Amino acid sequence: MIIQPKSRGFICTTAHPEGCASQVQRQIEYVQSKPAINGPRNVLVVGASTGYGLASRIVASFASGANTIGVYFDKAAEGVRTASAGWYNSAAFEQAAAAAGNKSFSIVGDAFSDEIKAKTLDLIRTELGQIDLVVYSVASPRRTHPKTGESFASVIKPLGETYSNKTVNFHNGEVTTATIEPATEDELRQTIAVMGGEDWEMWIDELQKAGLLADNATTVAYSYLGPEITHAVYKEGTIGAAKDDLEVTSKRLNEKLAASGGRSFISVNKALVTQSSSAIPVVPLYISALYKVMKEKGLHEGCIEQMYRLFSERLYGAAPAALDEKGRIRIDDWEMRDDVQAEVAQLWADLTTENVYEKSDLLGYRKEFFQLFGFETDGINYEADTNPEVDIPNLR
Ligand code: NAD
Repeated sequence: MIIQPKSRGFICTTAHPEGCASQVQRQIEYVQSKPAINGPRNVLVVGASTGYGLASRIVASFASGANTIGVYFDKAAEGVRTASAGWYNSAAFEQAAAAAGNKSFSIVGDAFSDEIKAKTLDLIRTELGQIDLVVYSVASPRRTHPKTGESFASVIKPLGETYSNKTVNFHNGEVTTATIEPATEDELRQTIAVMGGEDWEMWIDELQKAGLLADNATTVAYSYLGPEITHAVYKEGTIGAAKDDLEVTSKRLNEKLAASGGRSFISVNKALVTQSSSAIPVVPLYISALYKVMKEKGLHEGCIEQMYRLFSERLYGAAPAALDEKGRIRIDDWEMRDDVQAEVAQLWADLTTENVYEKSDLLGYRKEFFQLFGFETDGINYEADTNPEVDIPNLR
């Protein structure tokens, strides 16, 4: 089958297996070009197939030689439908990990469910014994509560007041004004239920109860703060409230893990092109401006560079992780530098449909968006017949 991108807004419904494999290989090679990390041995990544979770898994496996279990929600190819990008990424990861002699296993299903948690715990028991790092990197639009059966949908909305700012259609460069009505109380509650800390805590509680967490285990979940431009729709909006809940959860987990020498962290990461961030209004235009400035200053990083720095300098560095005043790891430090943000703010004020390609890195944004699905990748022949059916080794 000839596989071409089919996108609607911020969704691409096709993915290219060889392109995804090549993107994963590029990340592996980056990690292999860096010094090894004296890091974790047995790692569970929940939300492991794309974005920050995939990069965390690659760093754990290829910089630290860890065995990994990845839990994620992806679909295999069926009929004329390709598999999802995370499926192809994970197949490529599993093959490379096996070739490197690191154990790796995949569990595909709903991480929010009791069933997938139980299945993962069984796998840890039989294959790895105990886990010493749990990365929680789920980004989802919805969740069904495993105890009450209630279904929640998350929304990305401001709180209190209507918010308007610039946004871009990254397919055609049209800069318009997005106006978003404030969330209702119930939308806020549901967003916190999906993207807050409850499920992370359930995972850690279950692992601890089952004796599957090693002494001195670490757990980390990811957050974002960002600049003034995005505050109303992110930090001070529904998703920010969910991230506040994640932070409170992390403090609680720290207390629960302390007795066995364990630690819980929130790492605040850089704004990057991922399937999740492309769905947030305003953010793609902000990322395009940010990329322009950071690339010019030689400061640009993608998921893999961010996660390598997180593991090597913060989680498993020689010195204890430096934390901000709220106890968080700040791997968004370069994004938030005063000189970077001053230039982004200046660009932001000027951005219009007429100058967006010149003043921002919208082309870079668009290219990275398609690369998430294995397209626009050097060395891949997109006219060639490709088999969309790819097996994931060690799928449980
Ligand atoms: P992503 O969309 O690339 O990855 C999400 C992962 O979650 C995928 O592996 C997906 O399969 C998995 N997932 C979704 N629903 C699931 C379910 N029900 N069960 C099991 N797995 C499920 O997202 P990302 O941007 O890498 O985000 C990961 C974390 O990083 C989030 O907490 C996000 O808020 C945070 N973060 C993202 C950015 C950014 O700019 N992208 C910046 C800072 C922090």
